Amino acid sequence: DTAPMLTSLSAASGSKAQQAAAPAAKRLSIVIPMHNEEGNLAALFQRLVPVLEGIGLPFEIICVDDGSRDGTFAALRGHQALEPRLKLLRLSRNFGKEAAMSAGLRHAVGDAVVLMDGDLQHPPETIATFVEQWRQGMQMVYGVRASRLTDPWLRRFLTKIYYRLLDNLSEVTLPRGAGDFRLLDRSVVDALNAMPERNRFMKGLFSWVGFRQVAVPFEVAQRHAGATSFNFWRLLRFGLDGVASFSNVPLRVWSWLGIALSVPSFFYGLVIITKTIMFGRDTPGYASLMVAVLFLGGVQLIGLGVLGDYLGRVFTEVKGRPMYLVNEKVGFDDAPLAGGA
Ligand code: UDP
Ligand code: MG
Repeated sequence: DTAPMLTSLSAASGSKAQQAAAPAAKRLSIVIPMHNEEGNLAALFQRLVPVLEGIGLPFEIICVDDGSRDGTFAALRGHQALEPRLKLLRLSRNFGKEAAMSAGLRHAVGDAVVLMDGDLQHPPETIATFVEQWRQGMQMVYGVRASRLTDPWLRRFLTKIYYRLLDNLSEVTLPRGAGDFRLLDRSVVDALNAMPERNRFMKGLFSWVGFRQVAVPFEVAQRHAGATSFNFWRLLRFGLDGVASFSNVPLRVWSWLGIALSVPSFFYGLVIITKTIMFGRDTPGYASLMVAVLFLGGVQLIGLGVLGDYLGRVFTEVKGRPMYLVNEKVGFDDAPLAGGA
């Protein structure tokens, strides 16, 4: 009856030997941007921490408070006091999700970093699958929503058109249904951190950097509590940001439009001149004159607007202001880093 004893002993010592032989354990960082997520914190950590403990790698959870106006930061502090693996960054105001994620990425020390939302729309359980793929050598594992049923139909429709537009206009291809829920290997994180641009359209950057990527489907949940921070106008601005960050087509299209308009205009001018010479002065063409003036004026204004938009971006980059400012840090044992320069 010593046999079971022996096997259990050898199993135990075997696993110990394995642990000793294994190289220093890889570390995992979870980065969560948060804007008014007070009502989700308890439920989030309750689900997330056991999942991470189940994965078995040492981990840190970095919550970036992006200028919340509710009690998010105070609640985070409360959680942090009980959970030292929690680290907090508090930005000095609301800089937007892209900036908050960038801040988290810069402060993460893990060999892999997982980006996720703080509203439990991204199921923490999926992280285990991400890590599995990462262990098999993937450098970026991105979640793809199995369906978009949680989105209103208009948003789904506009999203579809937008993706097609961006694919055609820009140098990057966005995988359908992929968002910010993803795991990034250290090599990808370093590449992203080294990017100097301040106008950050992360989805585009993820695609632009390349590396070995794989998709993992997941089911998007309804927001646990609170309301989305992205209304229609904010989404529209975000979408235009994406086009302008990854495409020069809106700048260049005007010369083609100019040619398309001026070539026929030239021939029309010839026709008018010939007619005037041969048949004398016609009745004044008030209508055609007005149409030409108004139409061309409109086209020129649009062109100017696009120029202005790109110029504004250049201006933003040239000023070189940091992407975000960190106001407070909790749980980081290193010396405070400079802002997001
Ligand atoms: N978020 C942020 N800063 C913002 C807006 C949103 O950090 O200015 C965070 C938000 O707390 C959440 C994630 O980004 O964790 C996604 O935001 P939200 O759920 O409002 O967007 P949706 O899921 O509707 O696209
Ligand atoms: Mg959400």
